[in-house]
Parts: sequence; structure tokens; C-alpha cells
Amino acid sequence: MYSQEQMLKIIQEKNVEFLRLQFTDISGIVKNVAIPATQMGKALKSGISFDGSSIEGFARIQESDMVLRPDLSTFSLLPWSTKDDVNEARLICDVHLPNGLPFEGAPRRVLYRQLERAKEMGFKMNVGPELEFFLFEKGNGGSATTPHDFGGYFDLGPVDLAEDVRREITRALIKMGFTIEASHHEVARGQHEIDFVYDDAIKNADKVVTFKYVTKTIAMRQGLRATFMPKPVYGAAGSGMHVNISLFRGLENAFYDPETPLNISDLARFFVGGLIEHASAITAIANPLINSYKRLVSGFEAPVYITWSGPNRSSLIRIPSGRGLSTRLEFRSPDTSCNPYLTFAVILAAGLDGIKRGIDPGDPVDLNVYHLTAAERKSLGIQTLPSNLKEALDHLEGDKVIREALGEHVYENVMRLGMLEWEEYNKFVHPWEIDRYINTY
Ligand code: GLU
Ligand code: MG
Ligand code: MG
Repeated sequence: MYSQEQMLKIIQEKNVEFLRLQFTDISGIVKNVAIPATQMGKALKSGISFDGSSIEGFARIQESDMVLRPDLSTFSLLPWSTKDDVNEARLICDVHLPNGLPFEGAPRRVLYRQLERAKEMGFKMNVGPELEFFLFEKGNGGSATTPHDFGGYFDLGPVDLAEDVRREITRALIKMGFTIEASHHEVARGQHEIDFVYDDAIKNADKVVTFKYVTKTIAMRQGLRATFMPKPVYGAAGSGMHVNISLFRGLENAFYDPETPLNISDLARFFVGGLIEHASAITAIANPLINSYKRLVSGFEAPVYITWSGPNRSSLIRIPSGRGLSTRLEFRSPDTSCNPYLTFAVILAAGLDGIKRGIDPGDPVDLNVYHLTAAERKSLGIQTLPSNLKEALDHLEGDKVIREALGEHVYENVMRLGMLEWEEYNKFVHPWEIDRYINTY
């Protein structure tokens, strides 16, 4: 983390002309305002004002003034600025009201609040998100979904253009302070994954936002389009954002216990219990688009049923093989369109509820749940995740714990925006319907 002096020194040394002050709206979309570096002193002293009523899910018009306060620990030069004449840096900001109080409806604030609760209970949450994405040819008009290559899982091609793009994205991320663990081709044509190390939840929520921004920018510079839309191609795998979660008590991983059969602690089991209990409501946040639910179908390594297991990839919650300090749960439903701050916040709220109430998650299901019949699932007591956005919103409405974690402001706006999206989609006549019905009826 830089002190104010160090940061101003870098700005001077690197000849940074502009600073981008960033924050995210309720849908996780990055917003930014650029200021000339000469205004930085003022921005640090009194923040930068903006109109909250123009940001999705923020303020009403009559009380719209808001203030951005840069978080100095997020200062980073933009890796591509050196190629041009203009050098730029960015800072992620917290959102405040004109009276100086934090704005409770800002997604980053929602995550802070849950992390504070965890801290009061003696825990620190680390998360390791795994983002998948597609690279498409740009095409005319910009919505073509022609994959940029023909690779599959872990493929390596002699003329694999995507390897070069992945390398460029990885380089740019490293320049912005990421520690990259691995990058590889994913299962679908044109699909990729780049993994970075686990860290504190705020830092990694910031990194998810940065990751998307960097990936899209580098892809565009290479004449491609990167998309984090959850299911862009019918019949192919979708893009997940699995979230690896661990709770630390001081230097100790509180999920590890060498004395139990799975080597996970009771605390970890209760956390799983909480996730299972609140899974349906979490879906409204972790899978916020109409399109999200086209990923949550059988056969593509995305979860459909509310189960937990050891290594089983058809489960909602998996316990990856690492133990000791790397003991963690992998929560597999979130997709790449979710707002990471809100998603980590509701995951934590569900887990803490499980711990508080000692919720027993039942036995792990080590079968391929995609292959179970409805009767088998019934006898095992296996529930299904919501199958569309409306169902998920209904579950959110009925879940006090998750609603409270979001806070009234965010909850109301998630419901409002979700219902708008749902109604809009339902009214539309889709090409699928025309193909299917126009000649038959
Ligand atoms: N693409 C899969 C999903 O939709 C996940 C594949 C994997 O296990 O990495 O979640
Ligand atoms: Mg993957
Ligand atoms: Mg994974």
C-alpha cells in the first residue's frame, strides 16, 4: 500500500496525466470519472462529487449528490497507458454522502459490513475467484458469437492465437499487481480461464472488477471481443465464477481439522449448512441475469442441485483436495455476470448464519447428481436451484438473512431491476418461438 506521498511521487515520476476514479454500480458495472493528475490533491482532500441519481441502483433524484473517496491501497498504473502518449492510473473509490457518512447502498460497503460481522466473530474471510470468459471475433455490428479458436480443455495448438491473447492479458494483470496461478483453455471453443491467488475478500472483489476491465481492453486491442456473459453459446459450457472460500482465525485455517474423515472442521460443515440453506436466495445475486439460468443446466459442470460433496464437479459446493492452510470450499453457482462485492457478502452472511445456528449440511453426495432420477433426488432430499430469475427473486424476498446482509437499499434495487429485466424478457417474442411455432400453428 502506498502512502499519499509515495503515490504522488509515482504520479510525477511516471508522468501520469490522468487518474481514473472507479467504483461499481449495483450490477457490478465499472463506472469512472477521469481527473487530470493536477486535481489529485483536491480529490484526496475533499473527494470528487458526482450525481448518484445517474448511477443504476444508487440515489433518487432529489437526494442525488454523492462523493467518491479514493482508496489509496488500490492505486495502480494502467498497464496499457505507456503504449500511448498518455499515462493513466486508476484508484478504486468508496462512495460517501455529502455529510461524510458512507453510502450504505454502495456494493463495496455491503461487503465491508459483512466482513466486520465476521471480524466480530473472530474470522477473516479469504476468497479465490476463478473467472472463465469467451473470446469472440468482433464481427459486424458487434454481437457475433463466432469463437476465436477451436481449442478445448487444456489444449495447446501450434497456431493457437488465443495463447498469445491470454499471455498479453496475463502480463497486463501482473503489471497491475495480480499474482497469476495459471491460465488455460476451457472446455468450450473460444473459452478461457485465468486464475489468480486467493486473498482478502475486498482485495479480490476489486480484482474481479479489474480483471474484467483488463481482459476486455486487451482483447479489444487485439481485435477481439471478450465477454463475461454467463452463457453466450447454446449447447456449449457457460462461464462460471467459482468462489473458493476459507475462514481464518489468526494464522489458522478454521476450516481444517485433521481428525475428521474429510479433514474439514465442524465450522466448515456449518458454513456449508448455511450456504445450502440460503443457496436459492443467493442465486438472485450470484446469477443476476436472465441468461444466468441458461448456464445452470445439466451436463456442463455448472450446478443444478443444492448438494455438497468432496471432489464432485456436479455439486453446488465442492471441497477441493487442498488441506491444511489451503483447506477451502468451492461454491460453484456464481457466474461471471455477478457483482463480486455483493456475491462475496451474501456468501459470507449465509456461512456465518450456518456457524451461528450450527446448521448441519447432511451427508455429502458423491454421485453424479446430473444422472439421478427425480425419485432418487427426492429420496435423498436434494433440492433444485432456482431455474429462472423470477424464482430466484422470490427466494430472495423470503430470505431475511440475505436481505439483511444486502441492506434495504440494495435489496429494493436488486428486486426492482430484476423484475424489470424479467418482465421485459417475458414480453419479448424470441427467435426460438418463431422457429418453433410459425409453421406448425
Ligand atoms: N464452465 C463451468 C461452469 O459453468 C465450470 C468448469 C470448471 O469446473 O472449471 O461453471
Ligand atoms: Mg474452469
Ligand atoms: Mg473451479
